[in-house]
Amino acid sequence: MTLLERDYRHLWHPFTQASEWEAQDNLVITHGEGVFLFDDQGRRYVDGTASLWCNVLGHRHPAVDAGIRAQLDRVAHSTMLGLTHPPAIELAERLSALSRLDRVFYSDSGSTAVEVALKMAFQAKQQAGETGRTRFAALSEAYHGDTVGSVSIGGIELFHGVYRPLLFDAVRVPSPERADPTDEARCLAQAEAIFAEHGDTLCALVVEPLVQGAAGMRRHSPAWLQALAKLARDAGAYVVADEVATGFGRTGTMFACERAGIEPDFLCLAKGLTGGYLPLAATLTTEAVYEHFRGPYTEYRTFFHGHTYTGNPLACAAALATLDALPAVLATLPARAEALGEKLLALDHPAVAERRVFGMMGALLLRDGDRPFDPALRVGHRVALAARRHGAIVRNLGDAVMVMPPLVTEEPELETLVQAVRRALDDVG
Ligand code: PMP
Repeated sequence: MTLLERDYRHLWHPFTQASEWEAQDNLVITHGEGVFLFDDQGRRYVDGTASLWCNVLGHRHPAVDAGIRAQLDRVAHSTMLGLTHPPAIELAERLSALSRLDRVFYSDSGSTAVEVALKMAFQAKQQAGETGRTRFAALSEAYHGDTVGSVSIGGIELFHGVYRPLLFDAVRVPSPERADPTDEARCLAQAEAIFAEHGDTLCALVVEPLVQGAAGMRRHSPAWLQALAKLARDAGAYVVADEVATGFGRTGTMFACERAGIEPDFLCLAKGLTGGYLPLAATLTTEAVYEHFRGPYTEYRTFFHGHTYTGNPLACAAALATLDALPAVLATLPARAEALGEKLLALDHPAVAERRVFGMMGALLLRDGDRPFDPALRVGHRVALAARRHGAIVRNLGDAVMVMPPLVTEEPELETLVQAVRRALDDVG
């Protein structure tokens, strides 16, 4: 049996329609180097998804490899429940210094980082005596992960609709489609009405600052987000920033909150935290929130939450090496981000209705003239598959083709990537 036949026999792939998976040409990735991935046929591809938006420094980065190896010689895993270890301590210090949020709680994925923020915000309000605050406000088309809590605040019908009966009800704040002043004013007016009606029942407002990635890169302006955050604060709710996608330089600064000019009460981090090497997430919050959880044991104010691999030492070591390497990468990022932007904006094809770029995040929105393509045609999916024949791996979200290479991708590889998408569009017709 070939590797793929063995895969078809036993594997269940995430966000993947099995019937399509078994019928299409698939790649078996055997290794990576820098911004490239290689398959078992020896073919090379630009990693245009940054291995699902998480690879920051390229694959097999010498310092990250070395950091993990050094930790491997000490201990691979030891629990954070009742014990501590040096890489977790040092990483918490570094993350606090970067964010000005003094408390760091580890978990393992973006979904759990958000799940933790929801539970913490809720419990903090309960323990502060504000027991009527039991709900969350979230943006339309939001994506915060796949666990039941993060799906509850999610707003992407295709992914979340089927689970509706299982979910708690979120207060939905309309988000602008693009950072357009008229659209933003309309959304803000609606947000004002929503906060006036529901404000005293809210524990928190949850946002993806500046870019709603999974919504096909919907954008809003810093001013809009500041105004929304103020509405939440004035209503007595916390502000939770989900920077799982935008964190660690994706938008040009270490965190999008810096560019947005907001200071959240909770910051959710994952993906790029370990450079894209190992699963690690962090939920950061303020000392004031942490204070709500202190007390004699029998008052049961403890945060009764924690995963087995929470704060895994190898993952923390990868994160420390990533944080060491990142400042130099960020210093030279504007030129690469500009090159990506220029190339995507110059991509002219009848199926490309809109080009969205922000930092090292890009999306091409495909349409059939002024209408969406028939979903049965699977245009976005076919474009993503075709791009592989031209040397790049990209992923689609419906008919949005997402272009998110590692932050270190230089001009020639950006050119390969964008040209691969262009040729794929020609192939699909
Ligand atoms: N929040 C945001 C903004 C995301 O983009 C994602 C993943 N794309 C998540 C949360 C969930 O992260 P994970 O897949 O690591 O659970």
